[in-house]
Order: sequence, then C-alpha cells, then structure tokens
Amino acid sequence: LNIQKFSDEALKVIEFITNYYKNVQKYPVRSQVEPGFLQNVYPKTAPLQPTSLETILQEIQNDIIPGITHWQSPNFFAFFPATISNAAFHGEMLCTALNVVGFNWICSPAATELEMIVMDWLAKLFNLPQSFLFAGEGGGVIQGSTSEGLICVLSAARDKALKQFGEDAITKLVVYASDQTHFVVQKAAKLVGIPSKNFRVIPTSLSNQFAVTPKAVEVAVERDVESGLMPFFLCATVGATPSGSTDPIEGLGLLAQKYGLWFHIDAAYAGSALICPELRHYLIGTEHANSISMNLHKWFLTNLDCSGLWVKNRSDLLDTLSMTAEVMRNDASESKNVVDFMDWQIASGRRFRALKLWLVLRRYGVQNLMIHIRSDIELAKHLEALVKSDQRFEVVVPVKFSLVCFRLKPEKQQGEESLKELNWKLMEAVNSSGRAYMTHAVLGDIFVIRCAIGTSLTEEKHVNGLWELIQEKTQLVLKERLV
Ligand code: PLP
Repeated sequence: LNIQKFSDEALKVIEFITNYYKNVQKYPVRSQVEPGFLQNVYPKTAPLQPTSLETILQEIQNDIIPGITHWQSPNFFAFFPATISNAAFHGEMLCTALNVVGFNWICSPAATELEMIVMDWLAKLFNLPQSFLFAGEGGGVIQGSTSEGLICVLSAARDKALKQFGEDAITKLVVYASDQTHFVVQKAAKLVGIPSKNFRVIPTSLSNQFAVTPKAVEVAVERDVESGLMPFFLCATVGATPSGSTDPIEGLGLLAQKYGLWFHIDAAYAGSALICPELRHYLIGTEHANSISMNLHKWFLTNLDCSGLWVKNRSDLLDTLSMTAEVMRNDASESKNVVDFMDWQIASGRRFRALKLWLVLRRYGVQNLMIHIRSDIELAKHLEALVKSDQRFEVVVPVKFSLVCFRLKPEKQQGEESLKELNWKLMEAVNSSGRAYMTHAVLGDIFVIRCAIGTSLTEEKHVNGLWELIQEKTQLVLKERLV
C-alpha cells in the first residue's frame, strides 16, 4: 500500500466509475460477446512487469465493459435487481479500507457490535418477533448469500433432528419446499447430506397464485411419516423467483409446529419491501418460524454482498457451527459475554459488511427507503396496467411487489408449446436489441416473461420505453409468424 499515491489514483478510479454510470444506459444491457471473447485474446500467463493504472482503466473500458451485462442499467429488468446507492458505495469503500477480518469479537469489536445493532434495527423494521432479536434468544447475522445462510440453518436443523432420531437417521430426513422455491434450497439440502430423493417439491397452481397450500404439504408429510421417513425441514418463500408468489406463513408455520419441522422463510427478494407497514402482513405467522433470510443486496440499496439471516434460537446455530481452536482462544470469547460471528456462518473470516448497511440506514432513513420500495411497486403496477390495456397480452400473476409476469397471447385458443415459442422469440428480440433485458419462467406449463423492476436508476420513462420496445418487437414476431 502506498498511501501517498492512493488519493490520486483513487480519484482516477472514481472518475472512471462516474463516467461508467453516466454512460451505462448507452451500453447493450445484455452483453453481446461470444464465449471465449477474452480468454482467446488475453495472455495465458501473469505479467512480469507492472502496468500503469491509466492503461488498465483503458483496458477495462475497451475489453471488459463489452463483456459486462449491465445490472446497473436502468433498462435491466432481468432476474432480480441488484440495487446500489451512494451510501452503500461509501460503506463498501470504508469496509475495504479498514479490511478487518472480524471472525470473532476481539478481531474488531465494532464490526461485531455494529452488525448486532443493524440486524436488530432491521428485525424491528420487519416486525419480526422479539425472539429474533439479540435481546431475545435469537439474533441476526450478515451472510454472503441466501445459500450460505441455508446451509447453516439446514445443518442446525439436521443436527437437531439427528439428536432426536439418532445418527443413522440421515438417510430418512425429508425436506419440503414448493415448485416455486429457489433451487438453492435443494442444493443446500444436498450439501448438508440430505439424499436428493428426500427433497419434496410440492406443486403449486395458478388458482392459488402459485402459493403452496398447507394441506398439500401435510399430505406429503403424512405420506412420508407412514412410510417410515422423518420430515424435518420446511421452506416457505415470500416473493418467489419465478412468479413473486408468497406462501401462507401462518398456515405453514402451524403445520411445521404440529410435525416438529424446522420452518425457514426465504424472503431473498421481497424481504426488503417488508419495511413498509402495508406489506408486513406477508410475515404474519413468523413467530412459528425458526429462521428467516433476505438478500438485502437485491432491493435494499445495498450492493452485493449482504444477505441477512435471523434465527429464533441462536443456540441451534452455535451447537452446530461452533468449533474450538487454540488459535482463536481469547478472554472475551471465554467470558461468553460477546458474540463471535464465525460461529454463525461457514467461514471463519468475514468482512465488515454491517458498515454499508448502517450507512444506508443512516443516510436515507427508513422514510426514504420506504419511498424507494413504494416507487418501484408503483412502476410495476404501471407496467401491469399497460400490459392489461393491450388485448394481445395477459398478466399471468397479479403484481404484488415489483415483478411483472406476463405473456403475449394473441389468440384465445393456442397450445402452450406454440405460446412458449412465440414468447421466447419476443423476449429474445427484446434482449438481442441491447435496449433492455428481461428473463423468463415457466409457471406450471405457462411460459411467462418476467420483468423485474427496481434497479437504482430505473424511472417511469424507462418502463414506458420498455413497453414501446415490447410492442415494436411484438409486431415483428407476429408478422414473422404469418410469413
Ligand atoms: N431465494 C430466492 C427467493 C431468490 O430470489 C434467490 C436469488 O435470486 C435466492 C434464493 C438465491 O440466493 P443466493 O444467490 O444469495 O444464494
């Protein structure tokens, strides 16, 4: 580190970043390069001699930027947004600058204590039961991803179940989720040793707006119990990736209680919206949950990575994840008066991510964060209204948050396969234009185009521009079909 040069060079990087953001909407949103575009050109070995920052920034502009899919473009409507803000940017810079590795309290007391403070603030904002706070038996921790949080809670749930049923029961433990559940739940279950054949995917339907019903889960649980298996984990979703569906937390929670299942709520995308009082009803019943997670790096103006995980009973996590090692021994940990977050996650090392979350909360205040969420939801309702106003289209699932799932359906009687082909063509026509980027999902057998609104730069004019683009490409694909 050369602190003399630091400021001058950092200013050049900041200038580069500022220009990037000024021009971001001029780039094709979805990268248009071919596989190998960089690997075929860049040297195969590391350079022996140093290179100037100016040269490197030029290379980033010329070589790297074309290979970027611009998640920060206001015309990015794919997957889910990865929001960003000045406050989070500054927090990330400060985190990088301090570069502490806060695995336990003594390694940076402020990193641990600030994380406990912001996670309690957030728990209160989401109206989580008192038990999920540090003042209760639980608490919150920042993970890198929902997947990591899931591995932690699935491990804790598995160990609890094995304590009850015996070490040999691992092949009999069963996980329940729905066909709207993100695939990472299945991946995490596999990683903690649950056989793939013991992962139950409960079907959902359009009639329930793709929410799973407690009845359907109970039927599956009963069937497994009868055949000698041991149900142990149920995952509900608030704001599912394919459809934005929300599962009935209260009903599923009561069911989990009846059968002694660990109940997890995955609110990766929609969780951030639940700071708005009018949306908190989606979490009614959370008192029956053991854990809840949300990717604050999606919709909370906090850049990647920052995923919140709250547990009702921290001792469940600690029983599974705590390790003793002489190199970590210190008086603070032994006093049991401090939290050592390495016992709440997979890795020992961890970044000071609470800093950026704290900056976001401090700089904007809850009031502005609510305005941000509500304006994205309004934009989604605006697009929903535009789609509904065109007879050739249908909105497949009513908008709850900021995801619009729709399709082109020009004639009433048309097979799902030909509709799928038509909508794929339309989506590809939009995406390959470079002017916007959307992705898709298949709900039951219905192919839908997903428009996820909410990048930090998206405004009404961008949504209107997207709709114009969709209409323009619709004319084309419909004309092509007639030829
Ligand atoms: N769950 C839901 C509902 C999601 O939307 C996502 C990501 O889009 C995930 C889980 C996966 O999260 P991660 O990549 O942080 O593991």
